Amino acid sequence: MQNPLERILIEMIRGQGPLSVAQFMALGLAHPQHGYYMKQDPFGREGDFTTAPEISQMFGEIIGAWTADIWMQLGSSENFNLVECGPGRGTLMADLMRSTKNVPGFHEACKIHLIEISPALKEKQKEALPPYKVQWHARLDTLPQDAPLILIANEFLDALPVQQYVQTGEGWQERFITVDESNRFEFSPLSTGEIIESSSARVSFVENLCALLEKTTGAALFIDYGALYSGTGDTFQAVHKHKSVNVLEHIGYADLTSHVDFEALVKNIHERKIKISGPVTQGNFLKANGIEARAAQLFAQAPAQKADIENSLKRLVDSDQMGTLFKVIGLSCGKNINPAGF
Ligand code: SAH
Repeated sequence: MQNPLERILIEMIRGQGPLSVAQFMALGLAHPQHGYYMKQDPFGREGDFTTAPEISQMFGEIIGAWTADIWMQLGSSENFNLVECGPGRGTLMADLMRSTKNVPGFHEACKIHLIEISPALKEKQKEALPPYKVQWHARLDTLPQDAPLILIANEFLDALPVQQYVQTGEGWQERFITVDESNRFEFSPLSTGEIIESSSARVSFVENLCALLEKTTGAALFIDYGALYSGTGDTFQAVHKHKSVNVLEHIGYADLTSHVDFEALVKNIHERKIKISGPVTQGNFLKANGIEARAAQLFAQAPAQKADIENSLKRLVDSDQMGTLFKVIGLSCGKNINPAGF
């Protein structure tokens, strides 16, 4: 029994031929009616996965301090556009805004813009951010260019589609997804050779952002799982109810991602007027921005929660948890802008 999206994909493949891994990923996540992000709220204990801002308020607070610091380096500009890409439930932005309440002038200067495709998550974001005026966008190109820009994105790039190439007897071939006679999805070619990945969607997103930053000045911060340097290997993965599942099953009901190749992401921007900070590991970035001092302050205020706070600190920074697999990169443009924590 196939679900509606699986039936649509089978028909597409039978009619027009195999789908590339990138097309399959884009449809699995963002098909207008049946894509994974078009239906449900995927987060939390009952959902499919848990992200750093959902683990602890400290994550958003540290990014809040980072953002306020950039804003001050921009001369505490009278107006600025604060953009978050893929804000999920809005938790990171809510913690960021709460933690910057006492920074004089910051809230008055700030206009919030959220780049989001999921209608269900937009509703959650509305609920999480009631005191603030928020504008939603589907893409970067509709963002205003009238003021400096500060952009943050946690686990956003991993959701943009990736291409895969497989080494065969006849050289590298793009990997496609097709269906067999019994309507089961399978990869083609079936070769077991080495796999390399590249994501034109991520690279062009970053390039477009850099072009925008050159116009507006400001900075961007991307946090995601992936490697510092380009390598080989298949990192295309599906997660359903906190478990890793076959990427060719549960289509439309599983989150599809792949690891971000941080080297490839910034390879084309060296000629631009953009400063690249990092990538560094999430553990080092959060520690350099004071997460341990923040945790100590929180235990002092709420001693009964000490074990919980310690546990979430460990999840965010320890190497065997998210601390090393997740990387952070900063991009900035403007006189003497120096993003903190790298
Ligand atoms: N940053 C959040 C959510 C990460 S999940 C957190 O850390 O909890 C990925 C987010 O990106 C979701 O909000 C999803 O709806 C959004 N998203 C996925 N693909 C997108 C695209 N192509 N354009 C805009 N948003 C997208």
